[in-house]
Amino acid sequence: MSDTLKYTLPETAIPKTWYNIVADLPTPPPAVLHPGTGKPIGPDDLAPLFPMALILQEVSTEREIEIPRPVRDIYRLWRPSPLYRARRWERSLDTPARIYYKYEGVSPAGSHKPNTSVAQAFYNKEAGVKKLTTETGAGQWGSSLAFAGGLFGLEIDVYMVKVSYHQKPYRRALMETYGARCVASPSTETESGRAILAKDPECNGSLGIAISEAVEMAAKQDHVKYALGSVLNHVLLHQTIIGMETIEQLAMANDQADIVIACAGGGSNFAGLAFPFIGQALRGGKKPRVIAVEPAACPTLTRGRYAYDFGDTAHLTPLVKMHTLGSSFMPPGFHAGGLRYHGMSPLVSHLKELNLIEAVAYQQTECFKAAVAFARSEGIVPAPESSHAIKCALDQALRCKRDGKSEAIVVNLSGHGHFDMQAYSDYFAGKLQDRDYDQAELKRALEELPSVG
Ligand SMILES: *Cc1c(COP(=O)(O)O)cnc(C)c1O
Repeated sequence: MSDTLKYTLPETAIPKTWYNIVADLPTPPPAVLHPGTGKPIGPDDLAPLFPMALILQEVSTEREIEIPRPVRDIYRLWRPSPLYRARRWERSLDTPARIYYKYEGVSPAGSHKPNTSVAQAFYNKEAGVKKLTTETGAGQWGSSLAFAGGLFGLEIDVYMVKVSYHQKPYRRALMETYGARCVASPSTETESGRAILAKDPECNGSLGIAISEAVEMAAKQDHVKYALGSVLNHVLLHQTIIGMETIEQLAMANDQADIVIACAGGGSNFAGLAFPFIGQALRGGKKPRVIAVEPAACPTLTRGRYAYDFGDTAHLTPLVKMHTLGSSFMPPGFHAGGLRYHGMSPLVSHLKELNLIEAVAYQQTECFKAAVAFARSEGIVPAPESSHAIKCALDQALRCKRDGKSEAIVVNLSGHGHFDMQAYSDYFAGKLQDRDYDQAELKRALEELPSVG
């Protein structure tokens, strides 16, 4: 057998619909609540922030939702993305497992995020929106929305977590290259930002704070809306194109998944790969194990509480039921910036409660170690976020070896690490520390959870 096994689909195989798992779930996810009344919100409550087409997707129970032609046309720039069999890595691990990785780093921004940024920009443009605001942590989402906004002629304002703004100047330059404006958060442009700076002028920022700033600016102005890169149902929906393609590609390989693995920050690349597989199982098909992988320093699914919480620090968002560490939780510093969110997608959280998925947490140095071994066998340098999924695939491959089992492991390589080489340098220099979250900080943040019902 050849060592390079690459399963590429023709452009005509780009799926024509996204897959909505809500149609197949045994019980629907809990309602989203208005923070003032405690009552379920309706589509109109979200209208200041999102165009109606996206709100309808957010609450849809239809199994298949058509991908608009202009969105599919832009997807052709990099989709269908390749599925590889990691033969060289398998051999170096001496495992009987068959490891496949779906590579989403081929998009212009280098991750899976343009799958939804292009769709969101399209629907906003259709609705007559002029400008989108958003937040970004490590810069992956900001650059993905900057790219998509540029193609549709939308202005993009990105509130970037201050520590990343200074640590990742090249991500910022990429956003500016695509035409976006990038602001260090907390900023003096918003009430939320000014309130935080009054308390702590040195504040390094967090995703929760940046979300508050972006939401505030969108809510205050006509023709300005807000875009979120993960967590929400419509974002997960747009990502399902990943798993739908992967199912086709596994069929080309004459194989079926035994284990499906992806890292989970807000849950979108995980859902994107996993939901189409879980959907097949819910409709009576083969049921693979499905594992979400998170950082030990921000362990939402494995250590968080399943409760109603705000999506942001200033409490401007509706209340959603999710696995959360508390909206004021400050994770310790670590390199996978895209995995530092205090909450988890409500849909992914619901699936965890239904025991349809498993979750594990890893420390960052073991993830970098796995990512380096992967790069030396397969050539691709994983993003620090993706390295969590790679580490889990490695552990499963070694378990297969111990048990003498030949299982098919399918892992999402959600992005490349070309903008994160400082993290690799720090790893090689022995400067990376494994940080556990602070128990007292978690206890404090959980005590502040809003009381509901
Ligand atoms: C943003 C990001 C993630 C985490 O976000 P999810 O919504 O959980 O997918 C993972 N990998 C990469 C490469 C990212 O850019």
